[in-house]
Amino acid sequence: MAKGFTSKIVHFQFKQDNQNNHASYGSIHTPIYNSVPYGYQKVEDIIDVFQGKSKGHAYARQSTPTTDSLQNLLAMLDDSIGSLTFATGMAAISATFLSLLKQGDHIICSQYLFGNSYSFFTTLENFGINVSFVDTSRVDAVKTATTKQTKIVFVETLANPGTQIPDLENIGQFCQENGLLYIVDNTMTSSYLFSAKSVNAHLIITSLSKYTSGHGNVLGGAVSDTGLFNWETYPHIFENYRTGNSQSWGLQQIKKKSLRDMGGTLSSDSAYQIALASETMALRMDRQCDSANKLAAFLDSHPKIKKVYHPSLKTHEQHEFAKKHFKHFGAILSFDLEDDVDVIKVLNKLDIAINATHLGDNRTLILPMAQTIFYEMGPENRKKMNIGDKMIRCTIGIEDTQDLIDDFTQALKD
Ligand SMILES: *Cc1c(COP(=O)(O)O)cnc(C)c1O
Repeated sequence: MAKGFTSKIVHFQFKQDNQNNHASYGSIHTPIYNSVPYGYQKVEDIIDVFQGKSKGHAYARQSTPTTDSLQNLLAMLDDSIGSLTFATGMAAISATFLSLLKQGDHIICSQYLFGNSYSFFTTLENFGINVSFVDTSRVDAVKTATTKQTKIVFVETLANPGTQIPDLENIGQFCQENGLLYIVDNTMTSSYLFSAKSVNAHLIITSLSKYTSGHGNVLGGAVSDTGLFNWETYPHIFENYRTGNSQSWGLQQIKKKSLRDMGGTLSSDSAYQIALASETMALRMDRQCDSANKLAAFLDSHPKIKKVYHPSLKTHEQHEFAKKHFKHFGAILSFDLEDDVDVIKVLNKLDIAINATHLGDNRTLILPMAQTIFYEMGPENRKKMNIGDKMIRCTIGIEDTQDLIDDFTQALKD
């Protein structure tokens, strides 16, 4: 049995689909099933599907054989008991929180969040859910913010654009000891660089639009349940979903209340593309992260650059943690230009790097932060989040490393 990350991926669908004489004709990929309804010869069979007694499909908003296959693949990569896919990463995040929370609940989030996640949590506040945004680089901040109403702690493994890393291990332990649901957004590190389960994460969220797919051609999101949370202790599981093995209650509720009722469904076409691209995730990330290390070192010693944010640098606050827990240091790096350097001029001089807002693409993409993603929140919030006017975010692609260094060299010349 193959054990390596990539070996497991490239053999997964063939093995899964061709065992038990499944009628897949030896196909090495799970086909794109585009049927919306699923019909049965005998009415008893569709009744069993509706009642959860058999695993068949009923309607494509909830599942298709293609999305199921991707879900199983992702569950394997996350070392989880199950996974649900959604149309986008934001759909996965909103689905998870909306189906597990009630008015009056309190949640604790990292103050360094993907911009749209931050915006979503401020929307939750309109529904009577209290949110504390804290500096999660120290577990004490989480402990201090915890109240009797706290249900969930949410962090990202590697924040963008500042590359902050939370106190992942200690927060995991604190959540486990206090019955809090620990949700980790593993998008920036992916299951290849980091096992969120190893720090006791209960739910793992991944935007599949990023490293999992990599080619900038498809959107998707997923939530995996590591099986480490005791759902019997969670007060908001509806009576209907308190059936069967209690380990499955959480995903069961997220599936019914969000995928079915809110409908942020991943299409079979997209599921196929994502599964296909995941085959090269490790190869791509090896190259991307290696280039990021080299570029970080290059930029760090450049006179026109004030500060570089990348966990490979010894000056990075969580360098030691990243070295111990992450396979690589990630392929996102940001930097502040010196005050007298014109950010627009530098960006326009770059030839290879594209001005675009995305992460984890095969192409190197760059963006000034204060003027774009963090524009809407205003200068005060930007200051709190440490987003300066001269900050540029790069997400390193798979181009040849020397080409990237040459491009930054010429763009930073007078
Ligand atoms: C991109 C991203 C998301 C949202 O994913 P989409 O697929 O673009 O909706 C969520 N979290 C993180 C950390 C991201 O980078």
